[in-house]
Amino acid sequence: MSQSNQRAYNFNAGPSALPVEVLEKAQQELVNFHGTGMSIMEMSHRSSTFEEVHNEAISRLRKLFAIPDDYEVLFLQGGASLQFTMIPMNFLQLEKKASYVMTGVWSEKAYKEATLFGEPVQTASTKEDKYRNIPSLEEIDFGSDDAYVHLTSNNTIYGTQWSEFPDTGEVPLIADMSSDIMSKPIDISRFDLIYAGAQKNLGPSGVTVVIARRDFLAKANKEIPTILKYSTHVESNSLYNTPPTFGIYMLGEVLKWIEKQGGLAAIAKQNEEKAKLIYDVIDNSNGFYTGHASKESRSLMNITFRVADEELEKQFLTEAKDAGFVGLNGHRSVGGCRASTYNSVPLETCKALQDFMIAFQNKHK
Ligand SMILES: *Cc1c(COP(=O)(O)O)cnc(C)c1O
Repeated sequence: MSQSNQRAYNFNAGPSALPVEVLEKAQQELVNFHGTGMSIMEMSHRSSTFEEVHNEAISRLRKLFAIPDDYEVLFLQGGASLQFTMIPMNFLQLEKKASYVMTGVWSEKAYKEATLFGEPVQTASTKEDKYRNIPSLEEIDFGSDDAYVHLTSNNTIYGTQWSEFPDTGEVPLIADMSSDIMSKPIDISRFDLIYAGAQKNLGPSGVTVVIARRDFLAKANKEIPTILKYSTHVESNSLYNTPPTFGIYMLGEVLKWIEKQGGLAAIAKQNEEKAKLIYDVIDNSNGFYTGHASKESRSLMNITFRVADEELEKQFLTEAKDAGFVGLNGHRSVGGCRASTYNSVPLETCKALQDFMIAFQNKHK
């Protein structure tokens, strides 16, 4: 019997839910991958079998995300957190500036690393407002000779998401898309570099996707350690050292699943529908539930909310846990509740949460 009916209602923020079809396929192929007599984890990353998996994942990502030909696609390690360091190490120079749009803890972490390499400047911070908002595009200040402007497209902890991106003209734009990459179609050509840990929307942890314009990469500093140069990974097709082979295989399988869903337009529609189920409960609750993010800045990936009072909130989380819901506790820096509704979280899981929230309110109001 399929184990899919024993699956939790998984709202984990990351690592997070994967499509059950993908897990079951991986299980089937695990012990003997395509007749090789071994798993994908047990073979050389230089073997033709692995190379095919690797190259297919890259080409599928290019196609699904409509990545223009003058961009490189890299699979790196070290998570989005290593990108916080690699970006200024490669592109920021002593006494040069870069502008960081501050929309949450992840922006703060990215900014902090940049201070080690040059003179980053914070712009359009919404910290005063507990990061409830995405700043308006007019608030974003940057210099025409900035090395780049950096932003976080979806703020996993606060539950806010950019719906339109600033036009930075000649100044390169970089985005941390860890928690909303490939959740909807976007115009890649607006960006010079995009990065994302795979473990929210694309697969298991261990793989970091970097998409970067070739002529931007050419500007990188030369005198830095080999493994931290983007060019090293470009020149070796992300096979400079042993890559996370199983993670790349899983990423490829998740991309096949996205393709089967009808691509990113279809995924975006599903994501809107899923988030709406939960936001509707919050908005129709007469203040029993309140959202953390202001309405205009709401994320379709991370829905942050509070329950009427602290006692009830505790009870909500306890009863939710007993009812089979996982991952609903808010991040320790915000508290409250958070439902992460990434690509692979099924509509039925969101429907179940909707029903649970309505029933809980009816019982306790
Ligand atoms: C999770 C997350 C990170 C951290 O990713 P790691 O892969 O753990 O380094 C960075 N930025 C955002 C927006 C995230 O959601």
